[in-house]
Amino acid sequence: MSVELINVWYIVAAALFVLGLKQLGSPATAVRGNLLSSIGMLIAVVVTLFSQQIMEFQWIVVAAAIGAIIGAVTAQKVVMTSMPEMVALFNGSGGVASLLVGWAALYKVGNTSFTDVTILLSILIGGVTFSGSVVAWGKLAEVMTSRAIVFGAQRLVNALVLVALVACGVLFCLEPAVDSPYLYAVIGLSLVFGVMAVIPIGGADMPVVISLLNSYSGLAACAAGFAINNNILIVAGSLVGAAGIILTNIMCKAMNRSLANVLFSGFGAVKTATKVEGEVKPITADDAFLILEAASSVTFVPGYGMAVAQAQHVVRELGELLEGNGAEVTYAIHPVAGRMPGHMNVLLAEANVPYDQLVEMDDINPRIDNIDVAVVIGANDVVNPAAREDENSPIYGMPIINVDSARTVFVLKRSMASGFSGVDNPLFFGENTRMLFGDAKESISGVIAEFKG
Ligand code: NDP
Repeated sequence: MSVELINVWYIVAAALFVLGLKQLGSPATAVRGNLLSSIGMLIAVVVTLFSQQIMEFQWIVVAAAIGAIIGAVTAQKVVMTSMPEMVALFNGSGGVASLLVGWAALYKVGNTSFTDVTILLSILIGGVTFSGSVVAWGKLAEVMTSRAIVFGAQRLVNALVLVALVACGVLFCLEPAVDSPYLYAVIGLSLVFGVMAVIPIGGADMPVVISLLNSYSGLAACAAGFAINNNILIVAGSLVGAAGIILTNIMCKAMNRSLANVLFSGFGAVKTATKVEGEVKPITADDAFLILEAASSVTFVPGYGMAVAQAQHVVRELGELLEGNGAEVTYAIHPVAGRMPGHMNVLLAEANVPYDQLVEMDDINPRIDNIDVAVVIGANDVVNPAAREDENSPIYGMPIINVDSARTVFVLKRSMASGFSGVDNPLFFGENTRMLFGDAKESISGVIAEFKG
């Protein structure tokens, strides 16, 4: 295949990646976007294989088949709440692949100084991404402690590892060779650095870290693309790198934290929120039904607990019953509700909730005082008024859905336990709040049973 023809196909693949990414921006087009990007990747892989004068394909076919089977089976089997773990493993695989591609590129003759630097970068960033992703996976899967691991002189140790890594990198670039001791030092130190960078971050912040590592895996692939002079790898790597960093930024903003705070807060002091006290008013499913039956506007505010309870289908059923009863029904989505970006959107889409009933935080807040009942389903931090009012709270400043301004609030959860951030929630003691204790799916099924009479 001529170089011109290869590049034409690469442009087609790149256009499909960009179109696919654009369509992933809305639930209505996301499935098509995913398919378009996959077709782009298939074109990129096939064109690359046929442009390389490969002598034998048998091992490539075997490896591709094994990879495809592992990918398909794990994607089918993974439960929604474990998605960040799977993404961590995929990022790690991307990282180690770039490391190996960079390493292999060293065997090429005629490398320039620029190629040597990109080889170094693909090995270095690939190594950090790989070991960092494995630790992130370990924390989320709880095969290791999910708490932040901190020890005295940790910053000094990290700084020394970083300095040694940069020094070995420079020495390697001065005299690049496949058997350079500095190459092995860079590989070893980058793996150590990935581990050291992720262990001081608490398991709860892992989704942000995974998004950042996703961005790194893109940068590593981009560097590998330069190392082997492959245009589509450069384009795809840049897209992943940019998309990952944009998502990381969105997540940090929605939590009102800086990236530095997420990455380094394990080293700093923790704020303590003001203790909340007051009277809790529990409610039963029958009483909740009576209030909901009389409501003319109801908004559901889902959170992580809805995912745990797998309550999305019964929520949609209750929504339909309320609509049938003449109420206006909406679903208010906080950008960091749940444990991964878009978590609630995915669950509600799975339950066939109409997209036009989904409302973003900024759209619901200005009109929330006109809502008769806000039903909070296993959400906690994203509706915690302390984020608005308590300057001592660790979540102070995080934008929230102001359910406390609705006429009545139902909070569905199993206990008075705090959420992800570990801080108390004054909402539970509010004048207009009623606590419907129990598993969210069971509680909603109870209300549905009352509706059905
Ligand atoms: P939270 O973690 O604040 O609260 C979830 C609540 O769900 C808990 O208080 C728990 O209470 C309840 N719950 C758990 N299981 C059930 C069940 N079976 N039935 C009913 N309730 C249940 O979740 P939010 O969604 O409100 O907030 C998300 C948090 O995660 C934020 O702090 C956000 O910053 C953070 N985060 C989000 C990311 C994202 O991308 N979405 C990424 C990283 C962090 P109980 O045990 O009493 O039932």
